Amino acid sequence: MPSPSKHSKLSPSKSNIWLNCSYSSLFMDGETNEKSEVAEFGTQCHELGAALISKALHVTNYDEEFKTIEEVKEGLSMYSAEMQDIADGYADYAVNAYEFEKKRSKQEPLVVIEQELDLSDIEEDGVGTLDLGIVSDRDGGTLTIIDLKTGRLPVYAKDPKTGKFNSQLGMYALYFYKTFKDLYQIKNIRLVIYQPVINNTNECEITLEELLNFEEKCLKPMVQRIKNGFHNPRCGDHCKYCPGRMLCRYRMLNDLWTLPFAEKEVNKLSEEEINAILPHLDGIISYAEDLKEYALKKALAGKKWDGFKLVYSKVTRKIIDEEQVIKICKEEGIDPFVSQKLAGITELTKRLGKEKFKELLGGYVALQEGSLVLVKNDDSREEVNIEEEKNNA
Ligand code: SF4
Repeated sequence: MPSPSKHSKLSPSKSNIWLNCSYSSLFMDGETNEKSEVAEFGTQCHELGAALISKALHVTNYDEEFKTIEEVKEGLSMYSAEMQDIADGYADYAVNAYEFEKKRSKQEPLVVIEQELDLSDIEEDGVGTLDLGIVSDRDGGTLTIIDLKTGRLPVYAKDPKTGKFNSQLGMYALYFYKTFKDLYQIKNIRLVIYQPVINNTNECEITLEELLNFEEKCLKPMVQRIKNGFHNPRCGDHCKYCPGRMLCRYRMLNDLWTLPFAEKEVNKLSEEEINAILPHLDGIISYAEDLKEYALKKALAGKKWDGFKLVYSKVTRKIIDEEQVIKICKEEGIDPFVSQKLAGITELTKRLGKEKFKELLGGYVALQEGSLVLVKNDDSREEVNIEEEKNNA
């Protein structure tokens, strides 16, 4: 695991942001980069997954004190059945990937787990932690980089819109290559995203030449620009992951004030103007939500915003001692229980098994379409023909 004392401003995990917007590096200071519960859950999933893989592949880390799986679990404050599922799936995937390489190699592949990589040529004390790396001699030398993602926003090894490979995985591959290039021949690089929570495991293959090209044409020039203090803001999809998304004036101006109608006096918007505003709305809503979240966090920490106060959104009552309530109701001759409620589809499938569920209950389950929403043309969902829908109604 990475040392918590080291904080990389230009980290691989944030590279999609700072490689797209050098200005964002000003927000990568640790202060605006707060650690959320979601991130902590992810860190702990990684820890458990790494322990399971180490055990399965008999990998020993001599730098750390040995812990059994039970001891690792005891140290995880957010341990849950969901975490166990994610870690088990990740470990299975990693072991299969290792076996795949081993079968096709003459020599035993090298495996590294939670490998700290030295990124000091990017910034002083810079480090990055690779989840899992495997080097085999398959096809003249193949490096496999596997990255476990525990979030719900889909992540891709190769961006379906731009066709570019994932810069975070690219940086891991590059610095892994730099560390081991004198010991192992590497020609091909396989980049894998393992994201079980949304069933999104995907991968791409690149050549060493493409990786080195990424370093020369993309990574090095941007690092130099940032080191020279050339902070050029650039808005895009990457803003939603930027630690400065709430405070960035450029994003605020971009989303709010460069709207096509901003300069004009209008009483009623024309359809052309509405059409021109539509592409900006997601950005405005997302910016407003981020800013509200930031203001709330500050208020919770004691900041008083002029004209605003903290209140409970709704007050709910909760029974704090169920056993006592049941006992008292029974003594009063009142049934304390509500009538039985039908379990959900997932629970019934679990109880009956997939096949039996299909056979016995399949005919009573129907797919329900969600309501219609307006999205941009590059959204992957199929377009609804509203005229046909009306005719079929
Ligand atoms: S919010 Fe967007 S434009 Fe602003 S610094 Fe972050 S990435 Fe750059």
